Amino acid sequence: MAEPQGSEETSSREARKIAQKCQLLVKAETRARKKKISEILKKPEEVRTQEEVQILQQSPEVVADMQKRARRRDKLKEQLKEVEDPPELLYKKSCELSTAVLQARHLVVYTGAGISTAASIPDYRGPNGVWTMLQQGRPVETRSLTDAQPTVTHMALARLHQEGYVKYVVSQNCDGLHLRSGLPRNAFSEVHGNMYIEVCAECDPETEYIRLFDVTERTSLHRHVTDRNCHSCGEPLRDSIVHFGERSCLESPHNWEDAMDHAKKADTILCLGSSLKVLKRYSCLWGMTRVLHKRPKLFIVNLQWTPKDDNATLKINGKCDELMVLLMKKLGLEIPVYRRENDPIFKLAIPLLPDEHGSFSTCQLTLPTDATSLTTQHNSDSPTCNGEEKNTDQKDNSSYKPGWFGKGCAKRRNSAAKRRKSNTATSTSVKLSD
Ligand SMILES: [Zn+2]
Repeated sequence: MAEPQGSEETSSREARKIAQKCQLLVKAETRARKKKISEILKKPEEVRTQEEVQILQQSPEVVADMQKRARRRDKLKEQLKEVEDPPELLYKKSCELSTAVLQARHLVVYTGAGISTAASIPDYRGPNGVWTMLQQGRPVETRSLTDAQPTVTHMALARLHQEGYVKYVVSQNCDGLHLRSGLPRNAFSEVHGNMYIEVCAECDPETEYIRLFDVTERTSLHRHVTDRNCHSCGEPLRDSIVHFGERSCLESPHNWEDAMDHAKKADTILCLGSSLKVLKRYSCLWGMTRVLHKRPKLFIVNLQWTPKDDNATLKINGKCDELMVLLMKKLGLEIPVYRRENDPIFKLAIPLLPDEHGSFSTCQLTLPTDATSLTTQHNSDSPTCNGEEKNTDQKDNSSYKPGWFGKGCAKRRNSAAKRRKSNTATSTSVKLSD
């Protein structure tokens, strides 16, 4: 006789429950075993007991996987170490570089955050870099980036371009310091944007507004509207920053067309202060599609390992400013001194309309009142500025709400954490970790 339908459903539900319970038990057991193995592996071999050795022998695959992961972790740690060439070696390498600069027909320079650390702007992946700090859960110390001024490297590059040695600069930096060093606008691309530039993408061609303050105060990942409008068409202006995971969609200041054009012509590439982890993905910059002997010579100046080190003609483990001083001396060129009164940004900046004066609360660049004064003044309409003038030589640790710095990273980490949290909450299985 057939069982009633209701009782069939009950028994299949119970069977499912038992299967789920079994699954959970197996997972818990696996987790416990992996935890034990991980603890044993942390001990030196000579102090492991017979029983522990047996546990390892029973799970050779798990052991191999954990050892592989540990090796990968060690390698990453090694790559993040900052290494400096001793002075004699740095000098020798600077001589090699100067020969390459003199011989180059078309030298292009790629710059990263490492050229601005001397201006007290943190880099991304250095020991105190923004990404490193966020990854370690340490607070990012930020300061007004308008306090920063072009470094020795920025000024040297402007001179090298003036002398015809450097044909073009492609920068990942958003700090606007290449512009402020006097490097002509048509001599560089800022592929990740410029904190002083807001753009009307509705005008044809795009209208660029250079400002004397950080325009990214109210913008973030996927939110680029600056809350000011175009003076000619009235449409909202947007910042030019390309956050991690975003794509460049503006012509200026990213200027990819010129960057690619110069990369195509390049016979020598000099990379300064970049981990190259992002730049390496732009295949158009490296000439790798050319036959081997026609590829550009590659010189890399960075304290940490870069993924392009194996392709480099010469890797220089040194601070950019120190290297540039040696290089310029060897070339017999003086490095110009940055003077705020000559900063081109003051001529290029578009003044705010009267009703726009309260549209930002950060510090703004001002011309010095006399030739020796190099100060940053604050927006008088701003409630968040202390109203005190700051000397640019002084390290300022006052909390400044950053515009673009680390936002993409922070947001990505927050959403990843949220995703992890919701996965844990909704899932019956518990993630195994070693
Ligand atoms: Zn417009």
